[in-house]
Amino acid sequence: MWENWKVNMKNEINTFSDLLLICGQKNKRAYELVQEKEAFLLDTSIDEIRLKVKKSLDAMKNAIKIGLKSDEKSISKQCGDDCKKLQEGFKAHPALFGDLFEKITTYALATIEENLRMGKIVACPTAGSCAIVPAVLIAISEKFNISEDEQINALITAGLIGSIVQTKVSLAGAVAGCQAECGVASAMSAGALVQILGGKEKQIVHSAALALKNILGLTCDPVAGLVEIPCVKRNAFLAVHAVTAAELALAGIESKIPPDEVIDALTQTGQLMSPLLKECSQAGLAKTKTALKIEQKIFNR
Ligand code: SF4
Repeated sequence: MWENWKVNMKNEINTFSDLLLICGQKNKRAYELVQEKEAFLLDTSIDEIRLKVKKSLDAMKNAIKIGLKSDEKSISKQCGDDCKKLQEGFKAHPALFGDLFEKITTYALATIEENLRMGKIVACPTAGSCAIVPAVLIAISEKFNISEDEQINALITAGLIGSIVQTKVSLAGAVAGCQAECGVASAMSAGALVQILGGKEKQIVHSAALALKNILGLTCDPVAGLVEIPCVKRNAFLAVHAVTAAELALAGIESKIPPDEVIDALTQTGQLMSPLLKECSQAGLAKTKTALKIEQKIFNR
């Protein structure tokens, strides 16, 4: 354990550059740094920290398990049965991209639909984007028989990516649009996937940057102010997006824009985005004719 975490601010991991530098200096993996730091700050053991992460992992698995079996609609009755439809669709026509694609997309829908039924999910990093990390992490782990220890390592890595982005921009659609929710969840998932598949820290960081830079500007325009349309389907799309980013990074492809500058771009894009496109449902999809009809139907107004 690093006794000097608190006194030596150079050990703070606020940027991707900090992460690569400290990992190199200490010859440690990203997840090792995080668990040591958390154990020190919380005055507990690394085992305790990992146990907390395992609880989140178990909750993610449980949400998928329940979500896969349910087609109960949300309170608004607008969503809740897409996971069932997709599972039936794959039975009739297997996915072009194979069984892993089927798992990732159905797990994403299972989790986000559990969220809108008020089931127990892990807001990772937010409730509206809660399905992306679990879908990618658990589908890949099942497919490749990844040990629980490695899954925990990957989830810690995912959390670190989210926390690095959060040092510069709030992970809230109301502040920076959906790029900061589903976009960041996708970056976290990409990093977790690279970790699981044996990539190094530099590849983890670049996978996150690749995921983020290709989702810049994604608006937050939920229909009727509910985290349902377009949020549900967006989780499935952004889970697949994460896999693309991870594959590119594992092949040695890097973001030409340095990863920390990608976060700067996301921050600036969020600032420039119209407030009407940041969760208040005053523009975009939320103000389409059909969205207004849905809103009227739900709220009788
Ligand atoms: S559209 Fe808005 S509410 Fe929905 S997931 Fe994205 S950020 Fe969250």
